[in-house]
Parts: sequence; structure tokens; C-alpha cells
Amino acid sequence: MARNYLKKAKLFPASDSTDVRDTVQNILNDIEMRGDAAALEYAAKFDRYEGNIKLTRAEIDAAIALVPEQLKQDIRFAHDNVRRFAEAQKSTLKDVELEIVPGLVAGQKTIPVRTAGCYIPGGRYSHIASAIMTVTTAKVAGCENIIACSPPRPGVGIAPAIVFAADLCGADTILALGGVQGIAAMAFGLFGLPKADILVGPGNQFVAEAKRILFGRVGIDMFAGPTDSLILADGNADPEIVAADLVGQAEHGYNSPVWLVTDSDPLARKVLDLVPQLIAALPELNGKNAEAAWRDYAEVIVCADREEMAATADDYAPEHLTVQAGDLDWWLGRLKCYGSLFLGEETTVAFGDKASGPNHVLPTSKAANYTGGLSVHKYMKIVTWQRATVEGSKPIAEATARISRLEGMEGHARTADIRLKKYFPDETFN
Ligand code: NAD
Repeated sequence: MARNYLKKAKLFPASDSTDVRDTVQNILNDIEMRGDAAALEYAAKFDRYEGNIKLTRAEIDAAIALVPEQLKQDIRFAHDNVRRFAEAQKSTLKDVELEIVPGLVAGQKTIPVRTAGCYIPGGRYSHIASAIMTVTTAKVAGCENIIACSPPRPGVGIAPAIVFAADLCGADTILALGGVQGIAAMAFGLFGLPKADILVGPGNQFVAEAKRILFGRVGIDMFAGPTDSLILADGNADPEIVAADLVGQAEHGYNSPVWLVTDSDPLARKVLDLVPQLIAALPELNGKNAEAAWRDYAEVIVCADREEMAATADDYAPEHLTVQAGDLDWWLGRLKCYGSLFLGEETTVAFGDKASGPNHVLPTSKAANYTGGLSVHKYMKIVTWQRATVEGSKPIAEATARISRLEGMEGHARTADIRLKKYFPDETFN
């Protein structure tokens, strides 16, 4: 490998989250012990909010009335795209049924979890799209109860557009709660709600840690760290677009890594020049995030050829992977580790984040080595069943009795014996 790092990260996202775990565990313990009252106290403490937690229909309608018509149309458009993509994913889940031995039939079916808890982040930005991604997918999966939970703004409540999106996409309940208290309310079934079977959705380190601690008691979509993005670009890529795409993703947060991998030294150097200029032109808060992310976490790597570029991308296993290079089909066939792939300059991560259809809740921090992102499949349990005729049960019972005895499990063996004796009283088995 001849990777040449024109810019190397000084920090890694995991290294700066040391005592979050204790904070989150203590809050969860307190809320589990004291219930609704404790959740209300944390909402007041962290979000300076003392309003209604479980929105009424009148409150939802009042929020919806505040959303401009053009934005509503855009949200409906995005919802429609995400819904149709999720429906197509669901159609790939087929029931299975086969006769394993004559008379014994076994099958597999998928059952949606009953209650989905969808966290919609709202601390720094109003993540309208996260409402669309999580709630729509749960609805298409067929969950009976869908809870949408998002941080309230001090004294005001959830951003109206998030309320509109959650309601449009099919949330049965909308909770004005953020962070650990929101996750706890859904997991523990506070405010009269059913306990969530699965918790999904992105969030900051407190949200991610709460989901990680609760995993096992409830399902989670994935353990999510800060968002990360990698761009593969060849010498024909447009440096301004490459730089804009890097800055667009660095805006997420001070610790959101962005990486450029190229086989063109001139392109890499142009992008290195352009990025600070684009960051300087952003609004102040966005610029601060992007500046810190670029300074501490970004990398620019020059490789010898496209094979080395692809191998580098697979090593990084990014959440978002963009290709701005020729021969897109080659890249689609070659690349193996990513949450979502964006092929060609004509599409970009922000399209997927907001509106194009594939889900934007994706594996971060190399989790793309073993999982894809949020899909209807995450809300579905793949379960199995079997039934047998008397004849079908015979060879299975005989084998079961022998295997069980060898294992020392006499009680198991006798559940087979009792059937053989009942169905075949005239035969001897050993
Ligand atoms: P958030 O909703 O995740 O967190 C806000 C909450 O954090 C507050 O309600 C508060 O309760 C809690 N909190 C803040 N400081 C705390 C403290 N000191 N102790 C305990 N709790 C505290 O919103 P955010 O902070 O803006 O983070 C959003 C995250 O979601 C970002 O990291 C962003 O990158 C990520 N995100 C990811 C995707 C994706 O698909 N990967 C999409 C959207 C957002």
C-alpha cells in the first residue's frame, strides 16, 4: 500500500466520550426508579422545558398550522420516496415453507415488533428527515404502536416541522422529550405508553449510550457514533463539488470525520485549498462545527490507483460513501463496506439524508463492516414454526431421543418416547 496522507486526523471519535457512560447510567437508574416525575425533571434540567410531554391532537394540529405550505409539500415528497423504498424492501421478505422429512413441515415468517420507539434528534438542528426515516419505516413494517420522541426547544416544544413529519408518517404518539429521558420514557413505558420493543434513530452521544446500555432489554437499530463520510474521487472530479460535499458533511458536528480518497494529487491539493474557504463562508454555528471536524478528524489520502482507493474505502467502512469517478458500475461491484453508497456527482449524501428514498439512519464508526442501515427489516422478527403428522414425527422422535440421551438430557428424551409409545404402540424403539 502506498497511501500518501496529505492530511491526517489528530483525533478519533471514540476517544473523547469517556464519562458519558456513567452520566447516562445514573439518569437511566433514576428514571427507572422514579418514573414520569424524574423524566420531567431531566427535561427541565437539560432542555429548560416544563410544557406538556405527550402532545395532544390539538397541540399537534396547532404545530402543523405553523409549517409553511412549501415545506409541507417537500416533506410529503420525501415521505413518499422513503415509503416507496421501504415498501420495496418489505416485498423482499418472503415467507418460507418446506417439508423437511415426509410429514414434517417447517416454515419461516416475519412479524413486526409491536411498539417502535423512534428518536428524532433536535438539539443542534431540527432533524425533520430523521422523523421521516424512522417513523415511515416502522409504519411500513407494520408496527402497531409508533412513538416519536424529540427534544423540546426551551419554553416552546418540538419544532413544528418535526411534529408535522412525525404525524404525516404515522406516529401514534409524539413525545416532547430529548436525550436520555426520551429514550428512557420509550424503553420503560412512561406516560402511560406501552414499552418500546425497539429503539431506533440517530442522536448525540447521550442518546447513543442510553440505547447501548438498554440493548438486550429492548432491541436497537444500531450503536451510532458521530456521522462519517468518505469521498472517492478521481482526477476528473470537480474539486468544488468534492469540497462542498466534504464541508456539507463536516457541518454535522465537531467530531464528524470526513475523508477524501483520490488517485489524483492535483485534485487533492485543490480540495485542500477550497475547503477552508467554504467553511469560512458558512453561518457561524455550522462553520464552527465544520472547522473543528475538518481540523481534528478529516483526512486526505492519495492512492496509487482505483484498486487501492477501493481497498482504503473498505478499511474505513464509512457510513456514507460517495464515488465521483469514472466507471460507476466497477465501483458498485467492487466496494464492500459502507452504510449507503452515492454513485456519481449527480447525487450526494444530503439527497439521501433528506429526500431520495434509501434510509439515512446508517452504521457509523466502522459498523458498516457488519451491518447496513435502518430498514423495514430492523423492525421485523424472523420467526420459525413447524408441525408434523404422526408419520412425520417418527424419525424425528427417534433421533431426538437418542441425541438427548447422549447429551444426558433424559427429560428431553422422554418427550420423544411418550409420543412414539402413543402413536406406535406396537413397535419397540431404542
Ligand atoms: P439530540 O437530540 O441527539 O440530543 C439532545 C439532547 O441531549 C437534549 O435533549 C438533552 O437532553 C441531551 N443532553 C445534552 N447535554 C447533555 C448532558 N450534558 N447530559 C445529559 N444529557 C444531555 O441532538 P444533538 O445533540 O443535536 O445531536 C444530534 C446527533 O444526531 C448528531 O450527532 C448528528 O450527527 C446525529 N444525526 C445522525 C444522523 C444519521 O443518520 N447518522 C442523522 C441526523 C442526526
